Amino acid sequence: MTKYKLEYIWLDGYTPVPNLRGKTQIKEFDGFPTLEQLPLWGFDGSSTMQAEGRSSDCVLKPIRVFPDSERTNGVLVLCEVMMPDGKTPHASNKRATILDDEGAWFGFEQEYFFYKNGRPLGFPEAGYPAPQGPYYTGVGYKAVGDVARQIVEEHLDICLAAGINHEGINAEVAKGQWEFQIFGKGSKRAADEMWMARYLMERLTEKYGIDIEYHCKPLGDTDWNGSGMHANFSTTYLRETGGKAYFEALMAAFEGAREDHIAVYGPDNHLRLTGKHETQSIHQFSYGVADRGASIRVPHSFVNNDYKGYLEDRRPNSQGDPYQIASQILKTVASVPTG
Ligand code: ADP
Ligand code: MN
Ligand code: MN
Ligand code: MN
Ligand code: MN
Repeated sequence: MTKYKLEYIWLDGYTPVPNLRGKTQIKEFDGFPTLEQLPLWGFDGSSTMQAEGRSSDCVLKPIRVFPDSERTNGVLVLCEVMMPDGKTPHASNKRATILDDEGAWFGFEQEYFFYKNGRPLGFPEAGYPAPQGPYYTGVGYKAVGDVARQIVEEHLDICLAAGINHEGINAEVAKGQWEFQIFGKGSKRAADEMWMARYLMERLTEKYGIDIEYHCKPLGDTDWNGSGMHANFSTTYLRETGGKAYFEALMAAFEGAREDHIAVYGPDNHLRLTGKHETQSIHQFSYGVADRGASIRVPHSFVNNDYKGYLEDRRPNSQGDPYQIASQILKTVASVPTG
């Protein structure tokens, strides 16, 4: 038997953006524990905006297990929050709102800023660095500074060691801004792994004295890019059947549900979806082939393949909850009849 450090991780009840929370318990297992072996656990919901003080118990239900390469005998246990009966999802549990994700594939592109002392990493104490241009996919101290790449590489290794389907990294358009991509077959799988990757990034940067700024427009109304979390998605039908008529019906449904989508695509998105900086206005819906100024970008490969493949919804922002984003996309997709 070995004593394992089980880090139970969940989303709290803060709105509009939940925070990641975690606490450790030690348990003995004969080998690395499976999901089935992990017990339910509880926490004080009155400290996380998930319960009143008088009846404060909430239940943690393990849903995914990952090895934790940063800790001896470490286990990362991603949980859903349940009511005291252990069966009813808590109101803050948006993962439970994803009804059917069979055959749905999602690729999320997480953009974010590194912040130090309240400023983007690499910004001078006052004023601004040289304007945007050399930073995107840049190399060299002038472009990316001295510590960002070290963190990004370490994060990548920790994610891969955990079995997270991390697909890549790049320095982004603003100084101090980066991106990583997570892809999953099954929207829950993709969203689980995005939340776990966010957790690992936040934990990693503690030791560097650096914050992750997920706000979609941290530098306000300036010529510095905001941060998005583009959601690339496909379903079995889109990949295998598709067709122009189905695609056009799908886009009409997305246009009709524009407000429902914007409602879950992250807070303050009107500051980012302005029609500038490779975005469409928050008040309009459009789609276009290879068009980075559209709400939905249609890859060349989609059109060239008889309207089969995946689409990129460019509107979700960096603070968005991938559970709610996937849930809404799949709801709109489900509203369109398939041939
Ligand atoms: P860009 O920056 O040009 O928009 P990225 O390479 O950063 O592109 O992201 C594209 C994303 O699309 C990747 O995360 C990838 O996994 C995802 N993707 C590719 N094929 C599919 C598919 N069939 N269904 C869903 N997502 C997909
Ligand atoms: Mn206690
Ligand atoms: Mn990208
Ligand atoms: Mn990007
Ligand atoms: Mn993209």
